[in-house]
Amino acid sequence: MKYSTALLFCLLFFACKQEPSESISEANLSDKYTSFQLTTDLSALSANERKMIPLLIEAAEIMDGLFWQQAYGDKNALLESLSDADIKNFAEINYGPWDRLEGNASFVEGVGDKPLGANYYPADVTKEEVEEADASIRSLYTMVRRDNAGKLTAIPYSEYFKEDLEKASGLLTQAAEYADDPGLKNYLTTRAAAFLSNEYFESDMAWMDMTENGLDVVIGPIETYEDQLIGAKAAFEAYVLVKDKAWSARLAKYASLLPALQKGLPVDEKYKAEEAGSNSQLNAYDVVYYAGDCNSGSKTIAINLPNDEKVQLAKGSRRLQLKNAMQAKFDKILVPISKELIADDQQDNITFDAFFGNTMFHEVAHGLGIKNTINGKGTVREALKEHASALEEGKADILGLYMITKMAETGDFPEDQLMDNYVTFLAGIFRSTRFGASSAHGKANMLRFNYFQENEAFNFDEETGKYSVDFEKMKAAMNGLSELILTIQGDGDYAQIDALMKEKGKVSQDLQNALDRVNEKGIPVDIVFEQGTDVLGL
Ligand code: ZN
Repeated sequence: MKYSTALLFCLLFFACKQEPSESISEANLSDKYTSFQLTTDLSALSANERKMIPLLIEAAEIMDGLFWQQAYGDKNALLESLSDADIKNFAEINYGPWDRLEGNASFVEGVGDKPLGANYYPADVTKEEVEEADASIRSLYTMVRRDNAGKLTAIPYSEYFKEDLEKASGLLTQAAEYADDPGLKNYLTTRAAAFLSNEYFESDMAWMDMTENGLDVVIGPIETYEDQLIGAKAAFEAYVLVKDKAWSARLAKYASLLPALQKGLPVDEKYKAEEAGSNSQLNAYDVVYYAGDCNSGSKTIAINLPNDEKVQLAKGSRRLQLKNAMQAKFDKILVPISKELIADDQQDNITFDAFFGNTMFHEVAHGLGIKNTINGKGTVREALKEHASALEEGKADILGLYMITKMAETGDFPEDQLMDNYVTFLAGIFRSTRFGASSAHGKANMLRFNYFQENEAFNFDEETGKYSVDFEKMKAAMNGLSELILTIQGDGDYAQIDALMKEKGKVSQDLQNALDRVNEKGIPVDIVFEQGTDVLGL
């Protein structure tokens, strides 16, 4: 899963990745996005690994073309039909004529709504027809067309995209020859075979088995969000990744502290009786290339893979935190927002380390609390229904901050940086509420903003229009909100969360005024990448 970003649980709560947004008014459509160069310190790689990167990027570019076909159809025909440079650029960002930040609204005259099934299915297909058809029609790895009699027929990706997948397979095989790490070599070899056989299980297993590699690649048909008809079809994408070994080691250390942190949660014993969860790998990476699905519209900053539950049962999953992509969102979005909304004397507390830390601890914190209600209402997710995702994301956010606070007390985290985490956390609320109430993250942030406001966790200066953290009160509010969320989850109290969301899961007038000021400044909503071998100097 993308992101959406967590100890198996962001898997369930894909909103972690999804960052849809609200509209901003501007002259150019493309101004919603600002550009960022994807680079990393290649000296962390061996000479052979550096030789592999161009081959992997070439394979990734093939995935990019395949995703265009899945999402829309004929890329070149569309782009050639567009004379306006801005619209053409925007179509490239969106992999089609529909604005992904606006619920896929068409931005090209004469183009209607996006088919729910994108180009995976015939445009006239209905959900019922697909659900009643042969199982192959709903396979992850088939395109669906009509035969001459009008009957739905499934064509395996390995056939439908034969020529391109053969090329990609050859490139991975070539790259494998340079792989010194046996795990990486095995993964590339099995993935190359999967492109031809349409069977991805073995290569997913191989991907989980490699742990020592510095270079990584996620490539192939992976996420199913693009299929809005039934969520069955896997979209082609690729990430070429360089592992940040120092951060990865820190994350492993923090994950090891979970059992002790679970015991210390600010809530009654019965709400923390479960073991803290952590059977997955958590690593930080720089991405050097995005292609296909993950490069369309809003950019993914964390992923949790593989999606195959059989592989997860056998091997767990791996969570990948994409550090330079987060740096992009920090530099280009969070810093400008902070300049507008955070008090002058707390500007120095807005730091990338704190932003990255808060995001990391969010991920680790999904492992805290409980997954099952304490009163026989089943899992928390079942009991809280449509509010489950928003509350789980809200829990991870607030318990992430709780973890940092606790670790500062025990000397596991530098205490003098704690204020950075708090102020950056507050700024992050403004960033996330821009995504609107349609996303779980957006709602969780609105609830938190309103809770913090009531508990005076921050001060608002009427004269400057800026906010500042009151450290002690914010700490108290953090504990109070943690307790509230953990209790609702443990009780599986749907009525309470439903009432709370109705009351507090919305943008207050104060918050709207702040967001309006951000939007008036024309601060972008998301990022496009300048990327490739030239940018990397390869
Ligand atoms: Zn999450």
